[in-house]
Amino acid sequence: MKSNVPEIFGSMVFNDAIMKEKLPKDIYKSLHKTIEDGKDLDITVANVVAIAMKDWAIEKGATHYTHWFQPMTGITAEKHDSFISPQNDGRIIMEFSGKELIKGEPDASSFPSGGLRSTFEARGYTAWDPTSYAFVKDGVLCIPTAFCSYGGEALDKKTPLLHSMEVISEQAIRVLRLFGNTDAKRVLTTVGPEQEYFLIDKKLFDQRKDLIYCGRTLFGAKQPKGQELDDHYFGAIKPRISAFMKELNEELWKLGILAKTEHNEVAPAQHELAPIFSTTNIATDHNQLTMEIMKNVAARHGLVCLLQEKPFAGVNGSGKHNNWSICTDTGVNLLEPGKSPHENAQFLLFFVAVIKAIDEYQDLMRVSVASAGNDHRLGANEAPPAIMSMFIGDDLEEILEALVNKVPYNGSGDQTMEIGVHVLPNFPKDTTDRNRTSPFAFTGNKFEFRSLGSAASISGPNIVLNTIVAEELKQFADELEQADDFTEALNKLIRRTIREHKRIIFNGDGYSAEWPIEAEKRGLLNLRTTVDALPQFIAEKNVKLFTEHGIFSDTELHSRYEILLETYSKIINIEGLTMVDMTNKDILPAVNTYIAKLTSTATAKKNLDTSLSCRMELSLVEKLSALEDKAYEQVNALTEALADAKGDGLELATYYKDVVISAMNELRATVDAIEVHTDASLWPYPQYGDLLYQV
Ligand code: ADP
Ligand code: MG
Repeated sequence: MKSNVPEIFGSMVFNDAIMKEKLPKDIYKSLHKTIEDGKDLDITVANVVAIAMKDWAIEKGATHYTHWFQPMTGITAEKHDSFISPQNDGRIIMEFSGKELIKGEPDASSFPSGGLRSTFEARGYTAWDPTSYAFVKDGVLCIPTAFCSYGGEALDKKTPLLHSMEVISEQAIRVLRLFGNTDAKRVLTTVGPEQEYFLIDKKLFDQRKDLIYCGRTLFGAKQPKGQELDDHYFGAIKPRISAFMKELNEELWKLGILAKTEHNEVAPAQHELAPIFSTTNIATDHNQLTMEIMKNVAARHGLVCLLQEKPFAGVNGSGKHNNWSICTDTGVNLLEPGKSPHENAQFLLFFVAVIKAIDEYQDLMRVSVASAGNDHRLGANEAPPAIMSMFIGDDLEEILEALVNKVPYNGSGDQTMEIGVHVLPNFPKDTTDRNRTSPFAFTGNKFEFRSLGSAASISGPNIVLNTIVAEELKQFADELEQADDFTEALNKLIRRTIREHKRIIFNGDGYSAEWPIEAEKRGLLNLRTTVDALPQFIAEKNVKLFTEHGIFSDTELHSRYEILLETYSKIINIEGLTMVDMTNKDILPAVNTYIAKLTSTATAKKNLDTSLSCRMELSLVEKLSALEDKAYEQVNALTEALADAKGDGLELATYYKDVVISAMNELRATVDAIEVHTDASLWPYPQYGDLLYQV
């Protein structure tokens, strides 16, 4: 069957076109205005919208509705209510009111709140975010919502993201006015997140407790072939995968998600999906949906989609590239260098605002991508280092140098550049030479933040990006609004900013052994692990930043900090317990079976003929017995380490990082050595070769 993409695209979304069609003109206008101005929705308008939305949803097969929200668990939550409403005559009608559309009260007491909600006020409420369209998924009308406590504290990932978008808009507009722009009313940040994932066979997945409980393998010896030939990268897509991708695309298109490119990644069984960019909150909603739908579609194909950052040791893990830019509501990309002196000057100001932001808030950038899973990638020569730096390309760096030093740029003739007067020399757009080692790269008209883990919501990193850039734009606007001579003040400001913050620019190889040393000389932070990074979240300067811009209150920040630490500790604890379980119940017994088999073979041989050699059996028995003893000691040590975990917060997380993880690593090394020497038919789990090559 041939599918008609334009027809299915957005067919399950209550989008603008549908609203225009289904709503009375005045209601549509009033809703539109609410969305544009970010105001609260009038209940009479909401009532009309609700009815139209319900009727449309029922046409699409929906029987239930849910407020769809993004609690601090990292996944989305929904609680389904049906539309049915009983009548006096024993029949039912399908009902949905404006009140139900605008506000919901999920019993939210078990979502993490970092102590924000005591039990007596356990209920939070959800509120419709009309800037993100409602949609029908699996027979349920999903209404994107923000989630707050009754005290008004945000308990989700959407509320602060929406605030951060307002904040950067406000400051960017101030800057644009200084450049004489009077038509832009708002500025939006845009994001295109590229998503990496693994697909493995469901039957094999089901045989591994580590994959089931932790989403990653905790044991597994290297197979003879890994990714060294790079033959998977952009290679031909296998039929089973291609069927998966086809269905995935269709499901995403129905929900109005602009899935565009798909290809195989570097590691075997690894793939990537890139959407076309959209505004940040929609991109965030869509990325959450994409991850969910990837899992569902995989299941229909007998596959499992692994989104964990490091499912397999020794092959690349998965990340997300967060392509980010700033755009006016009139469609001008503010990170586009432009062709006239005026455009160039404006571009440079926004550009150096980002440089200053990344330099001053390296810590927050690092915090925003910190998780137990991502710790396996950052700094492991497969993803950017844990040190934050920016790649801008040699040409642009030369231009900045020339500006600061007031010397001609090679290519600008003998002219000294005056910002706002001269045209910037043309620099090739995408000279980015795909420098994959840089955490934050300028790619011609957007920045690509590459440190994100594959499983996490993109909300956190974008809250940070929007807020820190807003802060710099605010400082710039404060300064420039006071200037008598705008061009002179602008030149000074840009030059000064480059001079003070160019240490953050690094175009070299982020994997090289020299970089951490050089970075230290430059005074850049190297926060290696989540536990090293997280305390920066509540550093005084960062609390000041977030509270001043109204993104997080002091209480909200601390509660999020607690949730992040607690999540980290819980994950390591589950991983440790799973290793203990697998070792005691499956691995050690399997080795013993093999040892018994070897021993009985040796005995049988000797019985047959005493002159037969049993060198192989005896030497293997000796080797495996020694390894087995070692694994036994190590699993006991790990068990004890897990039992000894106490305290909470940073203390507990530090304990897991220092004590538990090293006990886990030691045990893994021994078990992997045992696996190499054990009869594969006795090994209790599918091995790396099976997992990575059997799709
Ligand atoms: P590649 O990096 O493979 O060359 P592109 O540069 O076209 O691909 O885009 C990579 C991702 O960046 C895509 O998801 C794309 O939609 C997104 N992107 C492109 N322009 C912007 C922009 N102005 N703002 C945010 N994301 C963008
Ligand atoms: Mg990319």
